[in-house]
Amino acid sequence: MNNKEKLIKKKRLSSGICDFCGREQPLCYICTNCDFTVCQECFIENQKIFTRTGVTWICPNCQNWQTL
Ligand SMILES: [Zn+2]
Ligand SMILES: [Zn+2]
Repeated sequence: MNNKEKLIKKKRLSSGICDFCGREQPLCYICTNCDFTVCQECFIENQKIFTRTGVTWICPNCQNWQTL
Protein backbone atom coordinates (compact mmCIF):
# COMPACT_ATOMS: atom_id res chain seq x y z
CA MET A 1 0.00 0.00 0.00
CA ASN A 2 1.22 3.44 -0.85
CA ASN A 3 -1.02 5.62 1.22
CA LYS A 4 1.43 7.79 3.08
CA GLU A 5 -0.12 11.20 3.45
CA LYS A 6 2.35 13.91 4.19
CA LEU A 7 0.10 15.89 6.45
CA ILE A 8 3.01 17.18 8.47
CA LYS A 9 4.40 18.95 5.43
CA LYS A 10 1.16 20.85 4.98
CA LYS A 11 2.21 24.03 6.67
CA ARG A 12 0.57 27.08 5.22
CA LEU A 13 2.35 29.87 7.00
CA SER A 14 5.94 29.27 7.86
CA SER A 15 9.43 30.56 7.34
CA GLY A 16 11.00 30.16 3.96
CA ILE A 17 12.73 31.83 1.06
CA CYS A 18 10.36 33.99 -0.90
CA ASP A 19 10.14 33.17 -4.60
CA PHE A 20 9.35 36.80 -5.31
CA CYS A 21 12.01 38.77 -3.47
CA GLY A 22 14.44 35.92 -2.84
CA ARG A 23 14.84 36.82 0.82
CA GLU A 24 14.38 34.54 3.76
CA GLN A 25 11.29 35.59 5.63
CA PRO A 26 9.78 34.39 8.90
CA LEU A 27 6.24 34.36 7.56
CA CYS A 28 5.62 32.97 4.12
CA TYR A 29 2.64 31.48 2.39
CA ILE A 30 3.65 28.15 0.96
CA CYS A 31 1.72 26.29 -1.69
CA THR A 32 0.85 22.85 -0.38
CA ASN A 33 1.02 21.49 -3.91
CA CYS A 34 4.29 22.73 -5.38
CA ASP A 35 6.03 24.47 -2.46
CA PHE A 36 5.85 27.86 -4.12
CA THR A 37 6.76 30.36 -1.41
CA VAL A 38 5.77 33.97 -1.09
CA CYS A 39 6.39 36.20 1.90
CA GLN A 40 3.66 38.28 3.47
CA GLU A 41 5.19 41.47 2.14
CA CYS A 42 5.15 40.33 -1.47
CA PHE A 43 1.79 38.73 -0.95
CA ILE A 44 0.26 42.01 0.13
CA GLU A 45 2.06 43.92 -2.60
CA ASN A 46 0.80 41.54 -5.26
CA GLN A 47 -2.51 40.76 -3.62
CA LYS A 48 -4.40 41.30 -6.86
CA ILE A 49 -2.77 38.36 -8.56
CA PHE A 50 -3.10 36.09 -5.55
CA THR A 51 -6.46 36.67 -4.01
CA ARG A 52 -9.76 38.41 -4.45
CA THR A 53 -11.62 37.12 -1.47
CA GLY A 54 -9.00 37.21 1.25
CA VAL A 55 -10.00 33.66 2.16
CA THR A 56 -8.20 31.74 -0.54
CA TRP A 57 -5.23 32.47 -2.75
CA ILE A 58 -4.15 30.98 -6.01
CA CYS A 59 -0.64 29.73 -6.52
CA PRO A 60 0.74 31.44 -9.65
CA ASN A 61 3.05 28.51 -10.19
CA CYS A 62 0.60 25.59 -10.29
CA GLN A 63 -2.76 27.41 -10.33
CA ASN A 64 -3.96 25.62 -7.27
CA TRP A 65 -6.21 27.32 -4.78
CA GLN A 66 -4.95 27.47 -1.23
CA THR A 67 -6.72 28.50 1.92
CA LEU A 68 -5.28 31.35 3.88
ZN1 LIG B 1 9.02 38.39 -0.74
ZN1 LIG C 1 1.63 25.76 -6.27
